[in-house]
Amino acid sequence: MDLKHTFAPGAVVFREGTIGDTAYIVERGSLDVTVTRLGETIKLATLGAGEIVGEMALIDDLPRSATVTAMTETSVMVIRREQIQNRLRNADVITGALLRLTLNRFRTLQRTMGGHPITPEETDQDLLGAAAFGIEDPYERARERLMLEQELREALASEQFFVQFQPIVALPDHSLRGFEALVRWRHPERGLVSPGRFVALAEEAGLINSIDGWTVRSALSSLKRMQDAAVAAGKPKPWLSVNLSGTRFVDDTLVETLRRVVAESGVEPRYLTVEITEGVLIDAPQVAEPILRALKDIGLTIALDDFGTGYSSLSYLQRFPIDVIKIDLSFVGRMMENETSLQIVRAIIGLAQALQIRVVAEGIERSEQASVLLGLGCPMGQGYLFGRPLDIEDAMAMTTK
Ligand code: C2E
Ligand code: CA
Ligand code: CA
Repeated sequence: MDLKHTFAPGAVVFREGTIGDTAYIVERGSLDVTVTRLGETIKLATLGAGEIVGEMALIDDLPRSATVTAMTETSVMVIRREQIQNRLRNADVITGALLRLTLNRFRTLQRTMGGHPITPEETDQDLLGAAAFGIEDPYERARERLMLEQELREALASEQFFVQFQPIVALPDHSLRGFEALVRWRHPERGLVSPGRFVALAEEAGLINSIDGWTVRSALSSLKRMQDAAVAAGKPKPWLSVNLSGTRFVDDTLVETLRRVVAESGVEPRYLTVEITEGVLIDAPQVAEPILRALKDIGLTIALDDFGTGYSSLSYLQRFPIDVIKIDLSFVGRMMENETSLQIVRAIIGLAQALQIRVVAEGIERSEQASVLLGLGCPMGQGYLFGRPLDIEDAMAMTTK
């Protein structure tokens, strides 16, 4: 059937009990919707221009719940399931599960209202249908997620988050330069949950702004303590690097919030670096550019995180005010065994030097890696070799040593 179709008066569009995969939007004419109960035909509705019918077939594969007949010559636009299925598959699991659940409720209601009580077999059929279309699993996943989301909200309210500080050092002498703040979640039953497990979920749930905001405030107040201790011990003040989720770049209060938080902390703005990933620059360059410039204007430093894993277009480095590139740990991890990775690391360092952008190599675990990086001209490094993410007390001790 084409995109458009015209039914003659009396023609059946679809029949109750058959399986279909199309819905129809009436453009002209009229359609009657009927059901047959105990041999009697009951009219449920008459549909006219602009109305839609058969839409449930776009979502699941259960039999049509009514018969639709053209009353006059009726033109329709045809929507096919394949146009919807991909969208449904890619939909957020909770949205998808909710849609199916609502649909099942509606079907049940419709059957009961039609004087047609649900039999146990039909309930089973629903379940079988659900299982056959993989609905069981999404339900379970949706439930898991909703629970975690709820727990994330509670975690924010009851201070289950804390920050660890991973040292960033100068490669020539391993002297401390700064710390990257990494958020941690101490869950009352699950124990320590890594950000790899909850950051993406928090982004989906719209909670990452609050978490990042909390992390920045908490980390800055710790940084102030570390800087005061460093000064008292005659040591240089360390700086702080924080991760900003890409979803924050749609938040037009970001710049003002950061400005205020930094001012309140008593830390000079130049000691705060915000780490962003390339995704931010690719998805909405027109939005990202003025925000990054505004962050520069309030005195912050901008670092491009996980460099080399995304598109890594040279034009970004020119277009956006990037001060620091962080070479992704996957390249550092492979460069001793893999010539290509080594060449990529070399190229990134050369590029950064040419553009006067500072470089931090991430994930340095072995001293040979540090030597090679130093030989290639990389000034700074971060990784287990110099220090794991530390609790505030250990970070304080390192600052004054
Ligand atoms: P990232 O920004 O790339 O952070 C570096 C990750 O590498 C950290 O994992 C760190 O513990 C780990 N790492 C550091 N040195 C080494 C090493 O020598 N070897 C290996 N194998 N790993 C090393 P972590 O803490 O699990 O963080 C994972 C990711 O979670 C971070 O990746 C970052 O994208 C995100 N994240 C962490 N904290 C925050 C936060 O406060 N806000 C946001 N939005 N994201 C955060
Ligand atoms: Ca980072
Ligand atoms: Ca990184």
